[in-house]
Amino acid sequence: MIRRIFTVAISVSLCLCFWLSRAGPSQESLAIATGRGGAVATVDTDATRIGLEVLRRGGNAVDAAIATAAALGVTDPFSAGIGGGGFMVIYLNDQDRVITLDGREQAPAATTVDLFQDPSSPGELLPFFPNRISSGVAVGVPGTPLEWAEALDRYGTLSLSAALQPAIALAEDGFVVDGTFAQQVEQNQARFAAFSSTQALYLPNGQPPTVGTRFKNPDLAKTYRILAEQGINAFYRGEIAKAIVQAVQQPPAVATAPFQVVSGAMTLADLDHYAVRVRPPTITHYRGYTLYGMGLPSSGGITTGEILSLLEGFDLTQGDRAKAWHTVIEAERLAFADRNAYLGDPEFVDVPLPGLQSEGFIQTRRAKVGDRAPDDPDFRAPPGDPLPFQRDPSPSLTGLPSVAQLGEQSGLSTTHLVTSDRWGNIVSYTCTIESIGGSGIVVPGYGFILNNELTDFDPVRPHPNVPEPYKRPRSSMAPTIVRSPNGTMLAFGSPGGPTIITTVAGIAINLIDFGLSLPDAIAAPRISQRNTGPTQVDSQLEQTTLGQELVALGHHLAPVPEIGAAVGLVIYPDGSLLAAAEPTRRGGGAAMVKDRSKGP
Ligand code: GLU
Repeated sequence: MIRRIFTVAISVSLCLCFWLSRAGPSQESLAIATGRGGAVATVDTDATRIGLEVLRRGGNAVDAAIATAAALGVTDPFSAGIGGGGFMVIYLNDQDRVITLDGREQAPAATTVDLFQDPSSPGELLPFFPNRISSGVAVGVPGTPLEWAEALDRYGTLSLSAALQPAIALAEDGFVVDGTFAQQVEQNQARFAAFSSTQALYLPNGQPPTVGTRFKNPDLAKTYRILAEQGINAFYRGEIAKAIVQAVQQPPAVATAPFQVVSGAMTLADLDHYAVRVRPPTITHYRGYTLYGMGLPSSGGITTGEILSLLEGFDLTQGDRAKAWHTVIEAERLAFADRNAYLGDPEFVDVPLPGLQSEGFIQTRRAKVGDRAPDDPDFRAPPGDPLPFQRDPSPSLTGLPSVAQLGEQSGLSTTHLVTSDRWGNIVSYTCTIESIGGSGIVVPGYGFILNNELTDFDPVRPHPNVPEPYKRPRSSMAPTIVRSPNGTMLAFGSPGGPTIITTVAGIAINLIDFGLSLPDAIAAPRISQRNTGPTQVDSQLEQTTLGQELVALGHHLAPVPEIGAAVGLVIYPDGSLLAAAEPTRRGGGAAMVKDRSKGP
């Protein structure tokens, strides 16, 4: 009862305060903020401001994270929302404990290994774009709403209802369309126009919303309100569940859809069956720092950990910077070879983790790092054999797998947020609907987009990551919290599919080996080798001295426009803090602290 009264009071005050703060002149949006008392950093100013308001009203880091994520579901709906899933790493300062929550989407019971077979061309896979990604069959049971409810219930102080109030106001009153929002609709225009509900919401008058206009989503406000009033069962067992099943089984495709829209087989029982998993974090020790990350079914923490463990055997500060990044690239190549071959949902496959993480195995991988890059631009490093390095030497799945034939896509989708509070708790949370715009299917009448996360399964079998009933597709999301030797705590993460892993590893290396500040590490050019051919680099890097020296060391560089709009925060031992958002990628993000000061 007391909690209920508190919740009602805080709901009303959160709504009012948010309305007042939006009514006044907008606070300057900055990529860096310093001060004390708690922080929020995201890709979006409205979402960051909402999280900060929760902190100001006495909420903790978990409360702020959920309110912020709900706001991102409104303003950044093509990256994340209640139709998707995510992974949350939480540091509880009073217990000095790190917990992770797995809110990954799950395959429906009717899933078979042939999930992505083309129904009109037996024996063929559905083309990845647009058919596979814009289908009912790609939709996994969303985990995000239950992850929010569980996080609040276990570690928050607010009810789900209270945490959703600012986002309800945001969806109802609207927000100003920025260049990124308009561009993401434009990029998806053909896909969005294929679904009547999506067209009606995001292509008013057949065109993307104009930059500078106000965008409202009353259906999403209604859906959040249903969750607030009826609780999470409305999503997994009530009217929202029914609407999701209907949209998956009979996607609202227009008669003139320019591609075949394949239906999925999700049922009400699949939604009813969904559960969030509380899992231990991955722990990586690197040069005196401890990194806590997300374990399986995400490959994020394990693969970041393997990259760093490999690098621990090299001194990256000796010799020139190009030589150091060459070593990083080769470590990434080897770690991805192992990831691609062995990692999958641990409830379905025996992942040889003890072997993969043993010092003996890591030494065999270090020995593969040469002085120059492989001559062949399409070289794929074979995976190592971890089995001799673990007590149970039985092969996982079908024995040592051949080099996985991956066509893994890397997009700019997904979003990362960090929060901290005055008690020193931290949340590092990555959430997604997979592609930018997910499946492209807005649940009619409910204003949110369904994910297409099942495209993260590997359709080439045998493989630990093949589709199976109730299985969760392997992810790359890598929300991270770091403890430094002097007690400083850091948190960071990034969007970007499999490039998330190399972005997070790159930030850690820039911080730990090269002594960059967190804002500089977030802004730094990215280098990403994932054992899929040439090394991707931010386009500005190719022409730099570093780029040219890497080419001289035999690297084949593939410039791409943008890798990883990361955000993060630092809490120093004296309690002062710094929050940092991406300064330019994806239009730049917003970092704010509760009690602002000039800095530590
Ligand atoms: N589906 C991706 C993953 O779980 C995230 C989507 C992306 O960032 O492109 O790794």
